[in-house]
Amino acid sequence: PLVMEFLIPTRTSRPSDDPIFSLNAEARARSAAGESIINATVGALLDDEGRLSVMDGVAQALRDVPPAVVAGYAPIEGSPAFLDAVIGDILGNRPAAAWAVAVATPGGSGALRLAMADFLDAGQSTLTTSYFWGPYRTIADELDRSLSTFQMFDAKGRLDVADLERQLARQIETQGRVLLIINSPCHNPTGYSFDPDEWRALVEVVGRAAERVPVTLLLDIAYARYGKRSLDEAVDILLGLAGRALLLFAWSASKSFAEYGLRVGALLAVHPDPQVRQRIRNALSYSCRGTWSNCNAGGMAAIARALTDPELRARTEKERDALKTVLDRRVEVWNELATPLHLNYPRYEGGFFTTVFCDDAPDVAVRLKADGIFVVPLGKALRVALCSVAERDIPRLVQGIARHVTR
Ligand code: PLP
Repeated sequence: PLVMEFLIPTRTSRPSDDPIFSLNAEARARSAAGESIINATVGALLDDEGRLSVMDGVAQALRDVPPAVVAGYAPIEGSPAFLDAVIGDILGNRPAAAWAVAVATPGGSGALRLAMADFLDAGQSTLTTSYFWGPYRTIADELDRSLSTFQMFDAKGRLDVADLERQLARQIETQGRVLLIINSPCHNPTGYSFDPDEWRALVEVVGRAAERVPVTLLLDIAYARYGKRSLDEAVDILLGLAGRALLLFAWSASKSFAEYGLRVGALLAVHPDPQVRQRIRNALSYSCRGTWSNCNAGGMAAIARALTDPELRARTEKERDALKTVLDRRVEVWNELATPLHLNYPRYEGGFFTTVFCDDAPDVAVRLKADGIFVVPLGKALRVALCSVAERDIPRLVQGIARHVTR
């Protein structure tokens, strides 16, 4: 019989699996078969025994949510207590907290989706760094938007402000609006965190672009709580753009509360004009309704409590500090061993990942796999997820990479 194509043309050749998830599956299968495997592909924080790290305070908060709250629908835009808590988490008691509107999203992924849906037109492209988290492109593609990049690092290995300005100018010319996505502190995949000078330079070029067209700057803060530098440092500088550019924050409980599967996140928009804010809120809320309707009510209730209940907040902060200490030790060992072996990677001061630059990354990743070391090849770099590698395995990891990369 004639087999008809049911999918629309743009959907007929979608890849069957997320490449990172399939590498992870292969690593786990070989490990289960008894091989000694280092699996540096997983973007979740595992303890040194390979178990998912969880925060008991959050688990307790989840158990404490009344069943009727878990079972009931949450408001479309999210529960007010949760949204206020997220605004407080990002902006604290700064006056700008009064300029913020937020909607709940299923993780930071949902926040990114809303931003691309409401601040870019169909066919337009979002701008981000040349190294970026792959799903940015998937989300854009899924929405009939696209993704363009600027060179992330200059010759000194610092934010390439000149190329950012060039690419902003291109977007101004070609589409008359800009949605710039920046992921720092603790950028995925490079681990890079901007310093205050880099944030100031960014604000300067974005401010200039914003004099010409509507510019939205989205800060993806998925990993911000694991950095050496505080998020506050970045927020204070970025608020210099408030009222000129639109500031968005993609907030997520996935990493900050080690609750990846809970799907709790938010998109926050900061603008001093109440009418601008109201229109944005309406548009975002409408998009929520038209995409996932509403979010996990029990998850929001638990995370709101973890953010605002003084005792629970203190407890979860302590638990997060303990997780961060485990990760920081791995980062320290990595830096100690990788520097003398001349691995080429950006400044790495904390966070889930680092990347090692090498021209033949896909080949190197295959050779590493033969040695039982799994990393993710991304263009001319290897992403190494130290969040999922035991401290005792880091010497083998570093030496394995050093053996195969060509410098
Ligand atoms: N942004 C970056 C850079 C990420 O790596 C992730 C998760 O891996 C997210 C956002 C969003 O994660 P989630 O949707 O689980 O909050």
